[in-house]
Amino acid sequence: MLLSAVSRRAGIALALIVSCAPLAVPFAKAGQDGLVEPRLHLRMAEASKDAPRVALTFDACMGKTDARILATLIDNRIPATIFVTARWLRNNAPTAALFAAHPDLFEVEDHGAEHVPAVDRPLKVYGIAAAGSAVAVESEVTGGASAIAASGLAAPRWFRGATAKYSPSAIADIRRLGLTVAGFSINGDGGAMLGAVAAERAFSKAKDGDVIIAHLNQPGREAGAGVVRGILDLKARGYRFVRLQDAGARGTDGTTD
Ligand SMILES: [Zn+2]
Repeated sequence: MLLSAVSRRAGIALALIVSCAPLAVPFAKAGQDGLVEPRLHLRMAEASKDAPRVALTFDACMGKTDARILATLIDNRIPATIFVTARWLRNNAPTAALFAAHPDLFEVEDHGAEHVPAVDRPLKVYGIAAAGSAVAVESEVTGGASAIAASGLAAPRWFRGATAKYSPSAIADIRRLGLTVAGFSINGDGGAMLGAVAAERAFSKAKDGDVIIAHLNQPGREAGAGVVRGILDLKARGYRFVRLQDAGARGTDGTTD
């Protein structure tokens, strides 16, 4: 594991030189509830403009594995960044083993312990009760990271909380824990609620540097079929796929730009 981690870091340094560096588009202003939804974008070096590059990111919140999407990624050798919760890992050990068996394809990052929003005061986000305190946010973040390590995967560097909304003070706490908040720039499946045609259309709008979010844990939903078609459409159009770690290990979450 140690050697593997070292070589991965060497790869990151190389990727930083030859490809791209992460850039968050201007940090979203807090909404009426005081929460922010950071956006994330990849900034491409001039030399990489020949082929559009996008980052595919998938959340695995709870429930099962969408084998349609997973098989598409593996069969087509398409790299992706997967955000997993401890809760999802408990029920999907075979998929975690697949991630570990394909370190060249899958970067696994932290989606929290129990899938509660990283908001340090008691409120509901989209009907989901938030962590509610700074201590609970820390527990959510570190619980997710510990479960990833226990699955034999590399320690996470990025965190994306449930609902992708945060209180600004929680973002500061997450950064103190050594993780960067991973936003996105294109919602590829509307929380796995889109129909197949709409999901495919969302993917088709990706431009150079976009970070697309979709879900890997809803095998029964129509959205996943559209996600598969959307990925294959981008591939056919010559897009290249990068993981967040290939775009720079630390990056920014937009709170300092
Ligand atoms: Zn989620």
